[in-house]
Amino acid sequence: MTSLADRPDLYRAFRRARIAVDRHASKMVAAEHIWAEETATDLLLGEVWPHARFRKFTRWQERHVGADWLWWWVDSTGESFGMLVQAKNLKRPSARRWHIDFDYTPDGATQSQLTTLLMTSDLFDVPAAHVLYCGNQTYRKSLNCSLRHENDWGCHKRARAGVSVVPSIIPKYLKQFGPSDLAAQAFHWSLPLEDFADPARDQRRLRPLGRVHPDIKEFMLEPQVGARRIAKMMLESLTAMRIGQMSVVQRADTAYSPDLLFDQLPMDTGHFDVPYVAHVLRGLRPEPPHYLEELLAGDLPERWMDESIAGIAVVSSAGDEMM
Ligand SMILES: [Zn+2]
Repeated sequence: MTSLADRPDLYRAFRRARIAVDRHASKMVAAEHIWAEETATDLLLGEVWPHARFRKFTRWQERHVGADWLWWWVDSTGESFGMLVQAKNLKRPSARRWHIDFDYTPDGATQSQLTTLLMTSDLFDVPAAHVLYCGNQTYRKSLNCSLRHENDWGCHKRARAGVSVVPSIIPKYLKQFGPSDLAAQAFHWSLPLEDFADPARDQRRLRPLGRVHPDIKEFMLEPQVGARRIAKMMLESLTAMRIGQMSVVQRADTAYSPDLLFDQLPMDTGHFDVPYVAHVLRGLRPEPPHYLEELLAGDLPERWMDESIAGIAVVSSAGDEMM
């Protein structure tokens, strides 16, 4: 185990950020309130800055409730991974009930935030993810999900999970079955945000299903660094869930887009409704999108952009390759 002092600054910043969010959440819970997702996001971004540079778009904030943020992880080679992020609280309506408002439909809107999030992720050609603000371990002590756990460790014992990330196609998939513990299951499949910034974290070998392009196979099986490592982590839970779905693998590879790092992406959907590997890997690019630097420098965002998202954050994960 690498000691904290030896970890990259970026990792320590994300860890500090999670602790700051947890501390705020537990104070609000003690005062018998739920914390605001926007406040938690502000705390998070403030702690991670300057490792993550960010910019809020004012037009969006005037018109919407909640916030979708576009995150780009850019490593020292320039390879980049983008994801569209929506923040949600893990709520505890009663001692043993847990709720995440995935289906929230704002006043006047014709569709849920989850549907809008997935549509907006198509617009930006990146995967959609939920950042879950889950409180600290004391807050979650009665949380149990109905899924199997390695080493008999229930979800309530998970560490570092106060700020966690789950690909949004997972709650969308879970919703079809309407499990009574949907929130707990979504939490189960999430991973701590700070682990995304931790190059020392153990990497799973992800087993590709069916015949996939050799580059994809190697990517999934072998350890990765930089933006590729972040993208691979986003595939972890999806791959594990897909193995549990008893359906035939759809094998046809499809050329997706020449702008992507991998352009031959497997189209297998499993029961997710979307080709889950392609959904994630469309966010992986050989270089950052042209709009990033201009936006961070203060240029006006294009109208479609600031009407779709609350802002952008760019995480510079240089240093990852040292591990
Ligand atoms: Zn669990």
